[in-house]
Amino acid sequence: MAKRKIRVLFAAFEAVPFMKTGGLGDVAGSLPQALLKTGAEVRVMLPKFKTIPEKYRAKMTHVTDFNVSLGWRNLYCGVEKLRHKGVVYYFIDNEYYFGREKPYGYYDDGERMAFFSKAIAESLQYLPDFPCDVLHCNDWHTALAPVFLREFYRGIPLYDNVKTVMTVHNLKFQGQMSDYVLGDILGLADNVSAASQLRDDPGSVNFMKGGLCYSDVLTTVSPTYAEEIKDPFYGEGLDDIFRRRSGILHGILNGIDTEVYDPSSEKDLPAGFTASDRSGKAVCKAALQKELGLIEDPKAPLIVMIGRLTSQKGLDLVRHVLGELLTHSVQLAVLGTGDKDYEEMIKGFALASGGRMSAQIRFDEGLAHRMYAGADMLLMPSLFEPCGLAQMIAMRYGTLPVVRETGGLKDSVIPYNQYTGEGTGFSFAEYNAHTMMFTLLRAADLYCDDPKAWNRLMDNAMAQDFSWDRAAKEYAAIYSSLHPERKTIA
Ligand code: ADP
Repeated sequence: MAKRKIRVLFAAFEAVPFMKTGGLGDVAGSLPQALLKTGAEVRVMLPKFKTIPEKYRAKMTHVTDFNVSLGWRNLYCGVEKLRHKGVVYYFIDNEYYFGREKPYGYYDDGERMAFFSKAIAESLQYLPDFPCDVLHCNDWHTALAPVFLREFYRGIPLYDNVKTVMTVHNLKFQGQMSDYVLGDILGLADNVSAASQLRDDPGSVNFMKGGLCYSDVLTTVSPTYAEEIKDPFYGEGLDDIFRRRSGILHGILNGIDTEVYDPSSEKDLPAGFTASDRSGKAVCKAALQKELGLIEDPKAPLIVMIGRLTSQKGLDLVRHVLGELLTHSVQLAVLGTGDKDYEEMIKGFALASGGRMSAQIRFDEGLAHRMYAGADMLLMPSLFEPCGLAQMIAMRYGTLPVVRETGGLKDSVIPYNQYTGEGTGFSFAEYNAHTMMFTLLRAADLYCDDPKAWNRLMDNAMAQDFSWDRAAKEYAAIYSSLHPERKTIA
């Protein structure tokens, strides 16, 4: 019998361009397209949010509808379909759960995510042209689908064929609910085995934990983070599961959208540039210094930070040495929003810096691009970082990352080796403010004193391949390992 393509249903709560609040939206927007190129047949399942732009809603067609049981509830569930950039998207329709102004942040989020997960499981029997081989779930929003598959659908041949993959993008959010959810919503209170795998501390139910216990394969978004989360420091209370299931845990580094981040073709940059002709980068730097009110000095090493201002991003290290750092001949520009005390701290130092530092406390995608293009270095001293995108984006623009060696930062930045000249950036291991500052100053000295070495690092950084194709091949290999009888890699 000829092998047929492996069929993968990729379930997520958000995906660009339909809904995005964070990194998950980027991944779910890009990865399925890249997966198609590996030979896997991938379709994506999302909630049909009220806020999905009308231009997409208008093109959706009705596939089917059925009822979903959730504890004592019996709920309407529609499935709509849309093809976008070669990928088939299914949208789970229920006005009550998804007809709201924003995707998250409601008192009944646990019930909404449980409904979505149950709807995913139930829908598999209503998609006759797509008998699913692999269900790929993402984060706690869809983590219950593998639980429901095993507990409610086991024994049905169509379901017994389905293997499950669960990817952790953000371990901070686990979907911890009060214990009544187990019976009232999940309908599993009398199932001793399910209850023990879903329960956290006495008195709470943890959706993520359920997904981690029931899935056939676990992945997270970088190899180093996959190791780190086995340790209590990074494991957010679930490290014992990652240790126990380490044999099926994989770390796959995310990619970035290399069309969106491309200094050679972006129209909104002051000047374009390529790896072989970087003259435009100097124009971008001059324009950026002017725009941000910094001293217009082409020789001053310009460091930028772009991202959420939270403790995860290493803002405590920055606070500790910022005054001292600014006594050296460097410039710093920060773009981000986050915790109020960090925002005030950044603003305070910028005000007193006399044109050496700029604080841009807002979300501004255009400015982010201009900063990636115009800067010399990007600082990312994270306490932990599952993957991190900013450091990979920066390298596309020849802006050298200065990072702490954690998670995806460690996996994507090759530290400068002064003896061989190799590297794509600079890094330090210890979570220590002065270690960070000395690493930055070492980078700044190299920038000022050894342009040849710096240019070589820029060449190396710009030559890195952070496209999604690499990650897609790794996911495809995992799907293949679950169904060796199917064809994945073309
Ligand atoms: P996170 O932990 O927030 O997901 P990442 O580095 O993985 O961090 O991704 C953050 C993404 O959001 C990057 O593309 C970065 O450029 C962008 N970003 C973060 N803050 C801002 C901001 N204030 N303005 C514009 N873009 C931002």
